Amino acid sequence: MEYKSYTLVNFTKIPQIVDNLSKQEIFNIQVVGHVFPFKVNNFLIEKSINWDDYKNDPIFNIVFPNRDMLEPEEYEKLAYLIETNAPKDKLLKVVNEIRWQRNPHPAGQLDQNIPEIDGQKLWGTQHKYRETILFFPRQSQTCHAYCTFCFRWPQFIGISSLKFASKEVNMLIEYIHRHPSITDILFTGGDPLIMRANVLRYYIDPILDAKDTGYISNLRTIRFGTKSVLYWPFRFLTDPDANDLLALFREIRDTGLHLTLPLHINHWRELEPRETQLAIERILETGAILRSQSPLLRHINDNSRDWAKKWQREVELNIIPYYMFMARDTGAQKYFGVPIVKAWQIFRNAYKQVSGIARTVRGPSMSATPGKVLINGVVHIKGNRYISLQFIQGRRPDWVGRPFLAQYDEKALWLDDLKPAFANKFFFEEKCENIKN
Ligand SMILES: *Cc1c(COP(=O)(O)O)cnc(C)c1O
Ligand code: SF4
Repeated sequence: MEYKSYTLVNFTKIPQIVDNLSKQEIFNIQVVGHVFPFKVNNFLIEKSINWDDYKNDPIFNIVFPNRDMLEPEEYEKLAYLIETNAPKDKLLKVVNEIRWQRNPHPAGQLDQNIPEIDGQKLWGTQHKYRETILFFPRQSQTCHAYCTFCFRWPQFIGISSLKFASKEVNMLIEYIHRHPSITDILFTGGDPLIMRANVLRYYIDPILDAKDTGYISNLRTIRFGTKSVLYWPFRFLTDPDANDLLALFREIRDTGLHLTLPLHINHWRELEPRETQLAIERILETGAILRSQSPLLRHINDNSRDWAKKWQREVELNIIPYYMFMARDTGAQKYFGVPIVKAWQIFRNAYKQVSGIARTVRGPSMSATPGKVLINGVVHIKGNRYISLQFIQGRRPDWVGRPFLAQYDEKALWLDDLKPAFANKFFFEEKCENIKN
């Protein structure tokens, strides 16, 4: 299949859109698509989305924006400007106002956790948890299609001063050398596997050389966080450099490194296309390990049946269930967010339905400023309810694995909405204020 993508400017040329959607529905996508960048491709259109029931189709709802992602006033204001052909700059002003109200950089994404060597910042990297450094290669700040709930959305909408970027692989190697506690590099984006294999080699080859010579013997694992298997499986099948990419995976393994691809899988339906299953098989043949992670999303996967089925299918396809995340406090969180207590119920009811093999999954987890906070569940103490939580990753390694309690709150969507139980502050709060990196 030849890759073809559709965005706001040309999606009305998609035959399935014209045939199935009403004029109003198409206009709604136009309006909301001005705020949330969207991009779909011919694989999703032709092989993944079930057009007979597109309104309830999880994949349709993952890639196409929905009217309810905007407040009614916001929608009306934008719709009016578009209908009356308002000047571009006027439209953009309103669009940007709406965007900036949506917390475009949650959890200090932008200016916290950026490491330094001798006072020089390593832009395009983040080092928040002791063992793992995140790397955002400049060339991977995009995806084969866009998810409407994506928390990376500011990176895709051309507010370019905000882009993470890095060509500094040598600085990265030096940093890893000087920090023996680092065992993992996590390539992220966007989608790092959007890069051509020869571009990816520009980053990977020096890392493998440095591992070979013992300069970074502490490094044990490379991860590529990717959605390509679900959004463009041809990346591993028929793209001109598909074999070269798989050869690169083998070379990583031959260096003695563990290679994990954390796959972003929101729904079991994404695993159905034959092409996706073939891509999975080819990747596994290289010795790479596949794990799955996804946020819990209203309108997409907010029920335990679909989660149990997803984990079960993943196990059958040799993908290890890894994380269930809470929808982040950004973008269209109001539309996608599931409250903490409800999320725990969905998780628990799904977890109960699968065997121990699929219970490698952890969640629901919030990636918040102090760390990844796991919702253990609701506990009853002397007739009162509390929410039990614990860090599975902490800005301070010592915070990990220490259960703590919050007051019960059925409406709370995020850590910031919770109040500590039996105390004025959570144990991590005082320390957090002083930490900048
Ligand atoms: C999730 C995450 C990691 C990886 O954590 P693991 O628990 O090892 O998967 C690393 N850095 C950041 C900032 C993260 O959010
Ligand atoms: S695949 Fe991941 S990075 Fe890309 S748009 Fe979706 S959520 Fe964002």
